[in-house]
Amino acid sequence: MKNISARALNIQASATLQTDALYKRMKASGADVVGFGAGEPDFDTADDIKEAAIKAIGEGKTKYTPPGGITELRAVIAKRLKTDCGVSYEPSQIVAASGAKHSIYIALQTLIEPGDEVIIPAPYWVTYTEAVKMARGIPVILNAPETGDFKITPKQLENAVTSRTKLFLICNPSNPTGMLYDKNQLQALAQICSKHDLYILSDEIYYRFIYDNKVFTSMASLGEEIKERTILINGVSKAYSMTGWRIGYTASNEEIAKAMENYLSHSTSAPCTISQYAAVQALQNEQDGVVAMRDVFNKRRDYITKRINAMYGVSCRKPDGAFYVMMNIERLIGKTLGNRLIQNSDDFALAFLESELVATVSCTGFGVENYIRLTYAASMETIKKGMDRLERFIGV
Ligand code: PMP
Ligand code: GLU
Repeated sequence: MKNISARALNIQASATLQTDALYKRMKASGADVVGFGAGEPDFDTADDIKEAAIKAIGEGKTKYTPPGGITELRAVIAKRLKTDCGVSYEPSQIVAASGAKHSIYIALQTLIEPGDEVIIPAPYWVTYTEAVKMARGIPVILNAPETGDFKITPKQLENAVTSRTKLFLICNPSNPTGMLYDKNQLQALAQICSKHDLYILSDEIYYRFIYDNKVFTSMASLGEEIKERTILINGVSKAYSMTGWRIGYTASNEEIAKAMENYLSHSTSAPCTISQYAAVQALQNEQDGVVAMRDVFNKRRDYITKRINAMYGVSCRKPDGAFYVMMNIERLIGKTLGNRLIQNSDDFALAFLESELVATVSCTGFGVENYIRLTYAASMETIKKGMDRLERFIGV
């Protein structure tokens, strides 16, 4: 038989989803496994959201919708962006898709020509590089070291721009680092994007989970000129604990929105109609559920970072947002843990899973060595158990 495409062969499986599948298989087989792998809130989707979906089914709202979503959903997203982020969009500038991951994919398909360069700070979320490659673009990785709070500097960005650079991709607050660029830092990066006429893909899916009274700034709120060149990515998966409902969205200028909608119309069509009605409810109801979730994540963050930093050989920064922590394991390289010589973070994640049944994600998939990502979107009891096992594993 003839080959499958080089493009498909060039794509790596998602490290986060692979870990999640392994964790769920082990759990289903009865193993006492602790999951710090894929980041999805451990809370149930709220009842009023579920009821909105059931009502939609009862009312026969079970047919195709326009590819970019029902007007009601687009309007409610625009309203939320205005309230939460201080940016004004018309409903026609909002395009809903089957999860924010899909929104990222469609946005890159819409903007990237073969050979275009996309600048991505590392550590990055695992899907970014692969989605760029699927669009036949070239990911250009900028290393953001821990000593600089895992953030790139404007100078780094400026130095990476070439005549082929098309887009700058930023995740704020960041998965996996949890770090937040403040308004001045964003402004400095945005200015460089303006100067070199770059698009900005700004993934703000964790914007509702920010701690210590730090202030979130949306990229598109930095002014009309920046807003024009920005494609905002967001969705309901994280803020409303709706990962399985598959609703994400973009906010962009009309031209990009129209092109994305056309693209959708020949690929997935609209996202699930019933989920769209559920998302309307999530976005329009009182937002106290989101705030309550954030407060719970905050306590877990405090606990997990304190435990990690009290152990020998590992350390972490306290994240500003999202629900991940990057654990530095550099001092454990060369040691034997759980009968395995630890030469890198892949070895660590494997040995920790084999010997202590704790699933984590090695950060090689996020473009950095010697870090392990743990999510604290897990119950306090789970976190405590996982930390006790970590202590035992590294022999503190
Ligand atoms: N962006 C980031 C940074 C994420 O962590 C995730 C989580 N899966 C997504 C986008 C996609 O979310 P979803 O497809 O569930 O909307
Ligand atoms: N975004 C989550 C994570 O990074 C969920 C898994 C995924 O879609 O990659 O773990």
